[in-house]
Amino acid sequence: MVLYLKIRIILISNIENGGNVARLNKSDLREKILHLLEHTGSHPTAAWVHDRLRQEFPKVAIGTVYRNLNILVSEGKLKNVRFDDATDHFDANTSKHYHFICENCGAILDLDIPFDETLERKVSSQTGFEVHNHRLDFYGLCEHCRNLGAAAEEQEYNIRNQSVGAKGLEQASKQH
Ligand code: ZN
Ligand code: MN
Repeated sequence: MVLYLKIRIILISNIENGGNVARLNKSDLREKILHLLEHTGSHPTAAWVHDRLRQEFPKVAIGTVYRNLNILVSEGKLKNVRFDDATDHFDANTSKHYHFICENCGAILDLDIPFDETLERKVSSQTGFEVHNHRLDFYGLCEHCRNLGAAAEEQEYNIRNQSVGAKGLEQASKQH
C-alpha cells in the first residue's frame, strides 16, 4: 500500500513537471524562476520566463510558470508591474523605483534616481487624499537606440552631401 502510494505520488509529480521531475520539484522550479528574474534587468513577461525555462525543461507549461511567478509575487520576492502593453512584467527589484521605457525597442529599465516621497506628501496636503504610492515612468530612447539614431543621421548626412556634391559637379560641367 505504501509502495503504491509512493509510485502514485511520483507519477503525479512527473506529469506536473513535464517529466523532468527527478531533478525539478516545485521549489526548485520556483528557485529557478527567481534566479532568472534576479539576473535580468529587463522586466520580462511570463512568456519570456517560459521560453528560458523550456531550454532546460521542454515540457514546463506556461500556466505552471505563471502560477509560480504569482506565488513569488505574493511572497514579496517579485513585483508585478504593468506598462502600456497591459501585460504582466515581473521585477526582482522590489524596492520602490522608477522606470525608463525606450520608445524604439520597448526596453524597460530601472532608474537609479531617488524615490521622491515628498511628492506623495505634496499631493496629500494639496488634496487631503491618503496617498499610498506613486509611479513615474520616463520615455525616450535608450542608449543603444540613441546611438542607432545618431549613426542613421550621420549616414543620411553623408548621402545628402554626396548627392549635393554630384549635383554641384553636374552643374559645373554644364557651365563649361
Ligand atoms: Zn531602445
Ligand atoms: Mn524595475
